Amino acid sequence: MTRLAWLLLWLPLLALAGTASSGPARIGSDVLLLGEATDERTPQRACSPDVLARHEQVLSVPAPAGGWSGEPQAVDVFGVLSGEVRISHGDREICGSMHDARTRDSRFRAGVGMVAVPKAGEREPIVVSWATPLKPRWIPTVQLGAPSPVQQNDTARLLVRAACIAVAIALALSALIGYVTAKDRSFLIYVAVCLLFVLWQAVLGGLSGYPEPWLPVDDRASWWLVALTAFTEATLLPVLWRLNGGDRLWPRSRGAQQGVLWTLVVVGLCVPSMGLAALTWWAAALENLYLLGCAVCLGVGLWAVSRRDRYALAGLSALVPWGVMMVADALRAQWLVAYRIETLQLSATWFLMMSAYALNLRLGRLRQQRDEMRQLADTDSLTGLPNRRAGLRLLAEYLARARQEDQPLAIGFLDIDLFKDINDQFGHEVGDQVLVAVARNLRDSVRNREDVIRMGGEEFLVLLPGANRGSALARLESVRQHVQAVTAILAVPGLSVSASIGLAVLRGDGDDLPSLLRRADHAMYCAKRAGRNQVYDAERAVAAEERMPV
Ligand code: GH3
Ligand code: MG
Ligand code: MG
Repeated sequence: MTRLAWLLLWLPLLALAGTASSGPARIGSDVLLLGEATDERTPQRACSPDVLARHEQVLSVPAPAGGWSGEPQAVDVFGVLSGEVRISHGDREICGSMHDARTRDSRFRAGVGMVAVPKAGEREPIVVSWATPLKPRWIPTVQLGAPSPVQQNDTARLLVRAACIAVAIALALSALIGYVTAKDRSFLIYVAVCLLFVLWQAVLGGLSGYPEPWLPVDDRASWWLVALTAFTEATLLPVLWRLNGGDRLWPRSRGAQQGVLWTLVVVGLCVPSMGLAALTWWAAALENLYLLGCAVCLGVGLWAVSRRDRYALAGLSALVPWGVMMVADALRAQWLVAYRIETLQLSATWFLMMSAYALNLRLGRLRQQRDEMRQLADTDSLTGLPNRRAGLRLLAEYLARARQEDQPLAIGFLDIDLFKDINDQFGHEVGDQVLVAVARNLRDSVRNREDVIRMGGEEFLVLLPGANRGSALARLESVRQHVQAVTAILAVPGLSVSASIGLAVLRGDGDDLPSLLRRADHAMYCAKRAGRNQVYDAERAVAAEERMPV
């Protein structure tokens, strides 16, 4: 029977599987076909004469000793940050820019590449040419090899470049959330820094041209790069200074930081109107300024750490990748030449992450300070109990909840008996000791420590959420005994401590906080009049007044 039920259950699924696998796939119902047949040729794009006129640097990759093997040869060119690259072999030629993916062979995404298929035995070299780079040390890398590994290397580079940009965007978004919660301006500044780094990385890594140019870089890539370098340095240097503790060591350095920031912003704004010679000069100047800035920040960071400024560690660690790059640059390390763009982007990502870490530390400190201030503002300094302000706020919350959940609520208004006499007889100091001891005992006599409030002077309020008249009376009686116990605890000869307590219970609709407090206060005075050291019920006071002849 159960087998039959199983079979019946599976039958519709089996029928579905049968229809899915039957017959050839039909376009529209079994498969979605996008695009259409093309007559476009494999990418082949010639350089315009004026592009070629700028190509002062030419590399001729010769065929091996016995001529080409006849297998396809991939050539991929990285690190040409501006202008177009020409790769040619025989009549095949490609001229592409890293800032416009449409100009390049789509099999190569991070560099400008081409696959040549020289005939076996042929000796004609593969020729690569480009314009002189803006910075003398930023030389291009030409990768030669079988198509598959060259393409894999190219894709890996693209992934690193895109991932770095994605991290910067994610950090910007999380800082935006930080701003919404903390309302601290530094988070907005951080968002702006992240977005600036996104733009700089997009132009540096060529993602501004992928899959189509979304920034108007065109043939002005050098100008874009120098301007964005000026803007990123304008934020990077002051942030590094702050991260390394410069701000804390020299609070007056703010003016100098602003000076550096705005000078670099002005330089960045002037870049579009510069000629190539001025641009080359500024590119070098910005690099030197940045090296100097990093060196100064390193010194400041080390000094700050030696003075136990642990926050400066974030600044020092932010400097580590830049430091490694500087040393590698000085040693002309091959890995840096080959992977300069990726290394720069990874260093920038590390810097942004360290800044985010410092920002979160700041957020934590701000929260802690705010909590401490709130705690201070809500606490009575002598007894450590919540003060009147905090107490009334809590009572209002209890009242609202009691109404919502239809639960009882009672309060006890407590006043120490003849406290003035205690002060007069034993001195203010003993008076204070009595207050502290009463507060401690009161706190121990209730379920929630927050439910005892010092209303001022020698008056306290005890909140009893959920207590009806009967249980409230019993609990306040216990509270009264706890106060009396202070006499034995302090053991000051001749000192006797007691309190009078007025009880009020929340009535049905129409009752509110002021009238509840008023009734409890009134009941407390009734307790005083009735001989002190007792709990008095507000309803009893009302009934007594009603019985009084008019
Ligand atoms: P009763 O039984 O009628 O309440 O008499 P009482 O003496 O307690 O009443 P009263 O309100 O006249 O006295 C309160 C005294 O509490 C007066 C004030 O000097 C004293 N006092 C208020 N705050 C403090 C404090 O923080 N420390 C000390 N030592 N005394 C305080
Ligand atoms: Mg009083
Ligand atoms: Mg009193």
